[in-house]
Amino acid sequence: MKKNYIMTPGPTPVPEEVLLEIAKPIIHHRTPQYQEIFKKAVEGLKYLFKTQNDVFTFASSGTGAMETAVINLLSKGDKAIVVRGGKFGERFGEICSAYGIEVIPIDVEWGKPVEPEVIKKTLSENKDVKAVFTTLCETSTGTKNDIEAISKVASSTKAVLVVDAISGLGADDMRTDEWKVDMVVSGSQKGVMLPPGLAFLSVSKRAMDMAKASDLPKYYFDLKAYKKSLDKNDVPWTPAVSLVRGFCKSIDMIKEEGLENVLARHARLAIGTREAVKALGLELFSASPSDAVTAVKVPEGVDGQNLVKTMRNKYGVTIAGGQEHLKGKIFRIAHLGYMIEFDTTTALSALEMVLKESGYKFKIGSGVGAALQAFAETQKTVGV
Ligand SMILES: *Cc1c(COP(=O)(O)O)cnc(C)c1O
Repeated sequence: MKKNYIMTPGPTPVPEEVLLEIAKPIIHHRTPQYQEIFKKAVEGLKYLFKTQNDVFTFASSGTGAMETAVINLLSKGDKAIVVRGGKFGERFGEICSAYGIEVIPIDVEWGKPVEPEVIKKTLSENKDVKAVFTTLCETSTGTKNDIEAISKVASSTKAVLVVDAISGLGADDMRTDEWKVDMVVSGSQKGVMLPPGLAFLSVSKRAMDMAKASDLPKYYFDLKAYKKSLDKNDVPWTPAVSLVRGFCKSIDMIKEEGLENVLARHARLAIGTREAVKALGLELFSASPSDAVTAVKVPEGVDGQNLVKTMRNKYGVTIAGGQEHLKGKIFRIAHLGYMIEFDTTTALSALEMVLKESGYKFKIGSGVGAALQAFAETQKTVGV
């Protein structure tokens, strides 16, 4: 028998309560019944994003909201700074290029966070830049960027700041209003414990004013249409009714635990995972590890792609491998969304089994033991 565990940085597991909510019969979206659900969802998003800004929901994967940010903020001939420290930072650059935006890249070595000073310098050398695109958790490398510091740099200029928090939201702290972030992007299949299919975007007043003036081509993702509807607690097109309904349930769960406790749980799971990695004699890939996902260097003599495949096929534990040039060189274990200590120890157990079979030398149980030790030590401090 095989039991399956999804331990990737998206999609993530969905709680049974949420699955049952999604399974309910479809209701029509132009009804007071749906309006009630939608209102609750919007309030929940504001709580999650720590914002009073409008938060819009799209029936797309996270990339749809990334594209929405680009095509609504910018106009023909505009310039934008794009932080490229991994696959998802690069994606912002690709979207900009697809619409003819002039990209000023800040290339960061994969696994390193961007230095806010570099953004400051680039902004001062390019005073006509309209926007800065960066990432809270660069999922491809498990790296967290210091959005607070980046925002301090950007908010003293005319450029708006756009943060991809698709995997970071609900795991790494994201204080949209306090840090004055104009646009924050997220998606459903990561920290918010839903199936794939919804994308979210928070939009500041300043960003909305730019959206009104933007002349890039758009229709489905035109924020003007979403804004007009949102002001009437409505949506412009048919929403993903079942997923929005599921979101209300997951936000209930998050509120019940309390967002700060949710963040503390992610921190605890991340610490346990990092301690296990050290105890196994392995090395973290990131110099600034995120609490959403831990990237680990594949040790010498072990086939990284085979490790991921064997964990999935033989033990039912799906983790993520490396992308692009990191293929086979790193693996990534998520501690994101609907996960607790024993999901993490399960992933670590399967990792140890496969490492042992690969001939890697270590004491079996040492990683899991270190994780449990860390959990025992950190539990009290967060008052769970
Ligand atoms: C998952 C992820 C995306 C891509 O989202 P899709 O839902 O696959 O479109 C973008 N950015 C980051 C940081 C992610 O983790």
